[in-house]
Amino acid sequence: DEVLMGDLSRPCRMMLLVNPQSGKGQALSVYNNHVQKMLNEAGVVHTLVITERQNHARDMVREADLSQWDALVIISGDGLLYEVINGLLERSDWEDAIRKPLGILPGGSGNALAASIHHYSGGSAVSSEELLLSCGFLLCKGLVRRMDLVSVHLSSGPRLFSFLSLAWGFVADVDIESEKYRHVGAVRFTVGTLVRLASLRVYKGRLAYLPAAKDHDARQGLGDDLTRRRKGRPAPLLSPPPTDSPCRHSLHNSCHSNNSLKVRRTESTPSRSAAGSLTGPPDSLLPPLDQPLPPDWVVVQEEDFVLMLAMYQSHLAEDLFAAPDATLNDGVIHLFYVRAGISRAALLRLFLAMEKGAHLATNCQHLVHAKVRALRLEPLSAKGKITVDGEVVEYGPVQAEVHKGLSRLISG
Ligand code: ADP
Ligand code: MG
Repeated sequence: DEVLMGDLSRPCRMMLLVNPQSGKGQALSVYNNHVQKMLNEAGVVHTLVITERQNHARDMVREADLSQWDALVIISGDGLLYEVINGLLERSDWEDAIRKPLGILPGGSGNALAASIHHYSGGSAVSSEELLLSCGFLLCKGLVRRMDLVSVHLSSGPRLFSFLSLAWGFVADVDIESEKYRHVGAVRFTVGTLVRLASLRVYKGRLAYLPAAKDHDARQGLGDDLTRRRKGRPAPLLSPPPTDSPCRHSLHNSCHSNNSLKVRRTESTPSRSAAGSLTGPPDSLLPPLDQPLPPDWVVVQEEDFVLMLAMYQSHLAEDLFAAPDATLNDGVIHLFYVRAGISRAALLRLFLAMEKGAHLATNCQHLVHAKVRALRLEPLSAKGKITVDGEVVEYGPVQAEVHKGLSRLISG
C-alpha cells in the first residue's frame, strides 16, 4: 500500500507540543492525567514543550534540529498543528522537513483532525474522552500515512498551507465568533451556530473551481445546472488587476508571455525561508490571483451565498461530519457552498444532519457539493471573515490548490 508509509520504530523520540491555552485550558492536564502514562507504557520517549504564545510552535519548528526527532506531536486543537505545518514548510529544507511524521491528540475546542483520524480508523462517533483514548492508541501504534495539504494564496502576505479547511461566510463567522465560548469546549460551535442563525446574512462573492475529475463526474448535488463551463473563450476576470498593473491589458495582448508576468508569478508564491529563497512546492494549477483563470475552470453563476466551505478531512469538528467521503490522501478538496435563499430552519436542519454526515442526503436545494483540485473565491461583500484551519486570515480574494500526500500523519 503506497499510502502506508511504515511505522515508527522504537525507541521513538517524540517532540510533544502542548498549547496550555487551547480549549478549556485542559491540554496540560490531558497530558499529566492520560498521555504521559500511555506513551511511557508504549515505550515512546518524548519531550514536552509547552507553548508560551501564538506562533511559538511555528518559530520553534522552523528553527529546530529535526534530526533529533522521529515525530512531532501536538496536544491542542487544530490551530497548533497549523502552526507546525507552516513552520516546517517555511524551512529551506522544507522537502525533507514536511516528511517528518506528525501526530495530534485532541486537547482543544476544535479537534477536527483528531475526529477525522478516529473516523478513518473505522471508529464511530465518540465522546471527547473516548476520542482521546482512540487517538492515543493510534499514536502509540505509530502507523504513518500520507496526508494532503492545500496551499492557500491571499492577496498579500505569504502563501499558507492548510490541512483541514478554508471557510467563508457562515462557517467562518461561527468559528471566529465562537472563540469567546472556547471554555465550554466543542459545544462552542453549536452555541455559535445558534447565535449566527439568529442574524443570518448573505455574502456576495464570485466562486470558481477546477473539478477533480476530467469529465466533471465528480460534481454532485443540486445546483449543478447553475454552474456553467467556460468553453475556449477568454475567461472573465474573477479579480480584475489594479489599474496600475503592468498587466492590465493581459486579456488582449501578449503580456502572458513576457517577463513582467514571470515576476508577478514569483510574487504570488511568496512563502520564503529565512534565507529569502522560496519554500514549499510550486503550485501548478493556479495563475496569479489577479490573472484570469484557465478555460477548464467552472465558474459558479450565482454570487449570493450563505457559506463556502472547502474541506480536505472528514470532520470540521468532533460533531460536524462535514465531508463524509473525504480521506487523508485522496488529493481532493471537497467544496461545499450554500446559496442564499435558504431558510433558517433549513440551514439548522443541515447542521443537525451534519452530525451524522447526512446533510447531503437531505436534498437541500441550496446545498452544492463538488470535488475539486483548486478553487478561487473573490468576496464582494465589504465585510466578512475567511478562515484557514479555523484561524482567521486576511479578508479578500483567495485561491487554493491541493498537494496530494505532501505531509505525513500518524494515524490508524
Ligand atoms: P482551540 O481548538 O481551542 O482553538 P488551538 O490549538 O486551535 O485550540 O489554539 C488556539 C490558538 O491559540 C491558535 O491560534 C494557536 O496558534 C494559539 N496558541 C498556541 N499556543 C498558545 C499560547 N501558549 N498562548 C496563547 N495562544 C496560543
Ligand atoms: Mg482552533
